[in-house]
Amino acid sequence: MLTLRAGLALLTALLGVHVTGTLTATAAAAAADLPTLLATLKRHGFAVVQQQPPGGTAYGLFDADRKLLMIAPITHDLGIARHVLLHEAVHAAQSCPDGRMRLIGWSLSTSPAVASRIRYLITNHYQQGDQTLEQEAFLIQSQTNAEALIVKALNQRC
Ligand SMILES: [Zn+2]
Repeated sequence: MLTLRAGLALLTALLGVHVTGTLTATAAAAAADLPTLLATLKRHGFAVVQQQPPGGTAYGLFDADRKLLMIAPITHDLGIARHVLLHEAVHAAQSCPDGRMRLIGWSLSTSPAVASRIRYLITNHYQQGDQTLEQEAFLIQSQTNAEALIVKALNQRC
């Protein structure tokens, strides 16, 4: 799950460590891979719906039992739909092969500023049991090649 406050805070953290020109170029390159990610999710039996998750406070939700990714429509207006989709898509990959959530377990790094922000979000916004799964979702979604990484994880595990 990507909660409202966590999502905005991470977005701020990510924007804060990029210069504007770089962010624009990176966002454009990464956006080109979103159709591939969506097709890969579909091929492995996952559905993506534009719908407000139950409870009204989350931007996104992954339901492992239904193999369903819910993305709140407002994320498009806020400009964070890509990040929310990436986040929930990591959870989809974590749920393979049998629906039980497990770490993908790759060793990835990010900038100290983003790493620090992720630690803060995890500590303050997530239940104890979910923390390592959430940390991995934030870490992968923060990579510039996140789409390619998640496609690889889905193809390996699902
Ligand atoms: Zn999550």
